[in-house]
Amino acid sequence: MTKEFPVPSEELLERLARVDGIMFDIDGCLVLSNGPSGQDGGRVLAGAAEAIQLARRTGRKICVFTNGTAQKTADIAAHLRGMGLDVGDEEVLTPAVVAAEVMQDLYGDAPLMVFGGEGVLDEFRRRDSNLVDIDALIAGAGPAAPIAAVVIGWDRDFGGAKLQVAAEAVAAGARIYCTSAAPMFASNERLNVGVSGFISAGLSYVTGEPYEVLGKPSAFSMDFISATLGVDAAHVLVIGDDLVLEASMARAAGAVAGLVLTGTCTAEDLAGAPPANRPDFAVESMIELVELVSTADARFRADLA
Ligand SMILES: [Mg+2]
Repeated sequence: MTKEFPVPSEELLERLARVDGIMFDIDGCLVLSNGPSGQDGGRVLAGAAEAIQLARRTGRKICVFTNGTAQKTADIAAHLRGMGLDVGDEEVLTPAVVAAEVMQDLYGDAPLMVFGGEGVLDEFRRRDSNLVDIDALIAGAGPAAPIAAVVIGWDRDFGGAKLQVAAEAVAAGARIYCTSAAPMFASNERLNVGVSGFISAGLSYVTGEPYEVLGKPSAFSMDFISATLGVDAAHVLVIGDDLVLEASMARAAGAVAGLVLTGTCTAEDLAGAPPANRPDFAVESMIELVELVSTADARFRADLA
């Protein structure tokens, strides 16, 4: 354990024993890779495979949630399995999954303007969302009906022409949504920049309209995690390497917030974190998480059955 949390309290151990669903962050938590969502090679972090195995063995539901929307969920799952992590296709969540579901809930069949690559568009197409033809708009065609929302994902080809039609849609009343506003995320060799937050901030700047985040740490995402796991937030453990993306999201919902120090956050960052971003516990590695949950289970979980 870190110096900040030398001995786990009885209260923490009991909360962990009562956890029935675990959300694992990917980058900086389960793996360190050279690109987003555990892609581009990289390596599994020590204890990550064992942590998933422990969840399975103890009957806990799991999901893995990356804020990256560059890849399709099935591709992320396959890559993680190829690295030795036991993760099913349906257990992978991204903000694109949340976005497609939330847009359907909020706007039904109304037209949506969605920016991103296959990792974003695939989730909308699978749900038969009403996507406007952005190329046609750029070419000068007007939208057939008012556009309800502009959704910004991992779009590496975003440029002036797309900015123009996106801003026009917002000026005509469309709301702006961003898959992830994270400025950076961890990988093996460098910090990678967050494309969707960059575009959303720029679109917000030129239109004067705010944007809402759909990925971590939004309540949209936390609610979606709870629903996917079928577990009340109070019995969900959220484990990740980011004080804002994971710890603050979990804290706000009353979930158990765990921080692992193998990614973007250092012990110094943790020590200086504001109360809303402080996790319930921190571990140096996923090996320590396995030890902590095992201790909690031995102490309390048998009594809960
Ligand atoms: Mg991370």
